[in-house]
Amino acid sequence: MHTEASGPNGEAAPARVERCAQCKEIKAKRHIAVQQGDQRMAEAMATAMGRHQRAVHS
Ligand SMILES: [Zn+2]
Repeated sequence: MHTEASGPNGEAAPARVERCAQCKEIKAKRHIAVQQGDQRMAEAMATAMGRHQRAVHS
C-alpha cells in the first residue's frame, strides 16, 4: 500500500516556503552575514541566490 501524501507529480513539496534546500541555505547564510555586518558576504550570498534562482527556478 502506498498512502503517502504527495504532490501531483510525486514530489512532496511544501508550497510557499523555500522549495529547495539550497535556497534555504543561501538565505540562511545571507541572514547571518547581515547580522554580522558582513557586507561582502551578504552581497556574495545575494548574488549566489540570484544565480541559483535563475539556474534552478527559471
Ligand atoms: Zn532553490
